[in-house]
Order: sequence, then structure tokens, then C-alpha cells
Amino acid sequence: MKGGFLFRGWKTLTSRGFCSLNDKSLRVCVIGSGPAGFYTAEKMLKAHERAEVDILDRLPTPFGLVRSGVAPDHPETKIVVNQFSRAASNERCSFFGNVSLGSDVSLSELRDMYDVVVVAYGAESDRSLGVPGENLTGIYSAREFVWWYNGHPDCRYMAPDLKCTDTAVVLGQGNVALDVARILLRPTSELQTTDIAEHALISLQESTIRKVYLVGRRGPAQAACTAKELREILGMKNLQVHIQAADLVISPADEEELKASRIQRRVYDLLCKSATSHQGHDFAGQQELHFIFFRKPDEFLPSEDQSRVEGVRLEKTCLKANGLSRKQVAIGTGQFEDLDCGLVLKSIGYKSVPVDGLPFDKYRAGVVPNLKGRVLSGDQPENVNIEQGLYVVGWLKRGPTGIVATNLYCAEETVTSILEDINEGLIALRSGSPKPGRQGLLQVLEDKNIRFVPFRGWEKIDSKEKLEGQLRNKPREKLTTWDELLKVALGR
Ligand code: NAP
Repeated sequence: MKGGFLFRGWKTLTSRGFCSLNDKSLRVCVIGSGPAGFYTAEKMLKAHERAEVDILDRLPTPFGLVRSGVAPDHPETKIVVNQFSRAASNERCSFFGNVSLGSDVSLSELRDMYDVVVVAYGAESDRSLGVPGENLTGIYSAREFVWWYNGHPDCRYMAPDLKCTDTAVVLGQGNVALDVARILLRPTSELQTTDIAEHALISLQESTIRKVYLVGRRGPAQAACTAKELREILGMKNLQVHIQAADLVISPADEEELKASRIQRRVYDLLCKSATSHQGHDFAGQQELHFIFFRKPDEFLPSEDQSRVEGVRLEKTCLKANGLSRKQVAIGTGQFEDLDCGLVLKSIGYKSVPVDGLPFDKYRAGVVPNLKGRVLSGDQPENVNIEQGLYVVGWLKRGPTGIVATNLYCAEETVTSILEDINEGLIALRSGSPKPGRQGLLQVLEDKNIRFVPFRGWEKIDSKEKLEGQLRNKPREKLTTWDELLKVALGR
């Protein structure tokens, strides 16, 4: 175990004030420049006037999900980058883009160089369904599709075929599912003035998809989306919404669930309202959005030549109590039905990926075990260690849930833990020979011949994208390949 101490008998920290906090310099490294990373950096800089904060990201661009996850037709959610940019321009803060944790620099190297390391690299992979046919062409994770239309360089060449079918199936009913359904169905005239990637806009303009099925394994009382996002898609012009009236009948157990969650109640009420308001309308020629409840994917069906997906076999489900929890779970009934489609987007949740040296609980939502952000290690509950100087924040800490602002509270908690630990002397700050921090990192990168992108490099990308965007009446035209990004940022 590296620099840890036993959790057993470790007393709860009290807030005794942070009088001695700013006596010594503090070298902090935040790994990941999404909302969780930037909120943490901002709070550290404010709380400790001698803190020097370096933010690493494997991409040449900062802001994580704000750039690559938030839908292009939600510009208001992206305004927060102005606040993050102000933090980055603080003279005690530096950005190191194009630096990969694991391959370019290891966690153990960073822990040797910095007093505090905060892992904030989020969830860059996908849960899998584990049903036959999942690897057929035409099946993508919603994360990949979102990265594709948002111009993430790792999905630039994904090229989903939107012309081979009129039907897409989206599995899952969370907010990401609503995002991808909306982007597939929204008139492209409304997308062309957003920051959507050019290659995606062209593909959507040529798309023949006019029907989207949103499939949930549970019922309308359990749909995972939130009311604002649901209202937005239900209110789209020229969209025919289909909801089976029979699915809206709820049981006493559903009623209990709805009583316990105002969010779920509002979502359920909106679905009921939409089902009645769309009854008896003439919808000729309109796009269609179908909410399918109580169905779980059982198998993906290949085309005759086995070359791509041609449908999904769904098993009907019913809901069953789940021990003492109020939340019911979906159970298969053994009855099946097939849904034809040419595109499937699996929107069943993101997944974090572990790195060497980082404790990781792959069974529980793939999170880093932690106590209010302090990373815990140890196999057995009676033998838990706190990893000295190592902290976690964001989706790696709490699982892939919550909106951008959720990370504000999450960062607050982690930073409070850091400050408490400094105050209690649990982070050994050396006044005589401080850890090398930024100088050490620069040396390692130079030794390994790694060219990092500083914040100034990102600003060059930003200016170029905004300029290109102006020519097309868009807020920005994103650079979408690694080559282009590095060329503009580093001038190579
Ligand atoms: P999510 O909200 O957790 O939804 C996941 C969906 O996948 C649920 O419907 C879930 O059903 C279903 N699912 C999970 N495992 C499944 C399986 N094995 N088979 C079938 N269905 C399965 O996740 P998300 O949509 O990826 O969103 C992630 C977070 O980002 C959420 O907190 C979301 O609110 C947030 N977000 C917010 C916005 C926004 O504010 N505009 C936009 C995008 C994302 P069960 O409920 O039955 O498990």
C-alpha cells in the first residue's frame, strides 16, 4: 500500500478551523478537466492561497462532458466554461492537455510529485447488456453516438449509417436516451446553427430515420429521465408521440414509488398528459417517437447476410418488489416480441475504467471506494486503509449520475476533506524540501518526449473554432481529429 494509513480507529475529523492551512505551499494535481475536475481546482485555489493546481487531461481540449457530452441544442448548459476558463487563467493554475494517465504518466509518479492528487477522469466507457448479437454493425453505445455528434476526436470516423433504415431503437429511458432521440428527430434546420460537428450535421441531413423507439425495462413510473428534458422532447413540433394507455395503469407499489420521488411523479404525469393530448390527431407524414415500457432486450437480430443489425428481440417484463427497497425491479415473463430496426443505441449508462494503482470497485457501479472523497483501499471491511493524499471526485466517486451542477457539491465535499486532512496533519507537507509538483511533471514529460497542450494551446483551438463557426453562422465549428487539434494547439 502506498502512503496509506489504517482506517480502523481513525477518528471522524472535526471542523476545527483551517488556521494553519496556508502556511506551506501545496502542490495539487487534478486528473480530468471536466466539471468535477474544474470545480475542484477552482475550490482548491480559493480555499488555499498557496495551492498550485495542475489539471491534466488526455484530450488536447478541456471541459470533458461539457464539450463532448452536453447536447449541441443545449447551449445554456455550456456557459459554465466561462467560469472554468477564469479558474484556468489563475496564475496558480496550469492545464496539461494531451497527457494520458497510465500511458504518459502513472498514478504512482503523480503521487510522488504532488502533495494531493484528485482523480476526476469520469466514465469513458459503457455498461454492456451481455445479450447475443451485441457486436453487430449498426449497434452503438449512446456515449459513442454523443461523442460522434459532439466532435470528440475518438469517434470522428464512427460514421453510423442513418440512411439504411427508417427506424432506430434506443435502449434505456434516461436523459442520455432522450438526448440521442431528440438529435435523431429534431429538424436539422434547428441543429445547423448549433455547435454540432459538421460531419454529424451532414449525416443527419441525409438521414432517413423517422421513427425512434425508446425502450424501458420498467414502467412509466420508473422512467429514469427528468421532467425538463422529457417536456422538451414531448413538445417538439411535428412529432407524433405514442404511449400505450395500458402501460400507464399503475399498481399500489408504483404509487408508493411515486410518493417517494417528486421527480418520478412529474415524469409520470407528463407521460400521462402526453398520451391523452396526442389521442385522435391526424399525424400523416410526421416523425414518430414511441415509448415502449416493460420490455428488456434479449437478443439482437442480424440481417440475412449477417452483416448488420435488423431488429431487437424484446422480452416482456413485469415488476417485482426488491427486498426492503421501495424500488421495484424488472423480471422477464418468458414472452417475446421482435422490433425491426436498422440502428440501435444502447443508452444504459456510462462506466468508469480503472488505472494501475487506483482502488476500484468494479462490482458496485464501477466507482473508486471513498469516504467523502478520500480514496479507500483494502479488500476486507475490517482492513480498510485511507490512501494518503489521494482523493476522488465526480462520476468516479459517485457513479455516472447527476447533472453538471451536481459536481459542484461533489467537489465541495472532496475539497473539504482535503482541507480537513491538511489541518489534521494527515497530508505531510514538507517545508524544507517540498514535493516537485509542476516542475517534476514538466521534467517527466520532457524525459518522455511528450508534448502537452497548455491552456494557451486550447485558446488557439477555441479561437480557430469560433472563427470557422462565424463563417457558418454557428457558435463554433469544432476541430474533430487529433491531428487538427494538435496542429492548431502546438503549431506542428
Ligand atoms: P441513467 O439515467 O442511469 O439511465 C439509464 C437507463 O438505462 C435507465 O432507463 C435504466 O433502466 C436503463 N438500463 C440500465 N441497465 C439496463 C439493462 N441492463 N437493460 C435495460 N435497460 C437498462 O443514465 P444516462 O441516461 O446515461 O444518464 C447519466 C446521467 O447524466 C444521469 O444522471 C442523467 O440525468 C445525466 N444527464 C443529464 C442531462 C441533462 O440534464 N439534460 C443530459 C444527459 C445526461 P432502470 O431504471 O430500470 O435501471
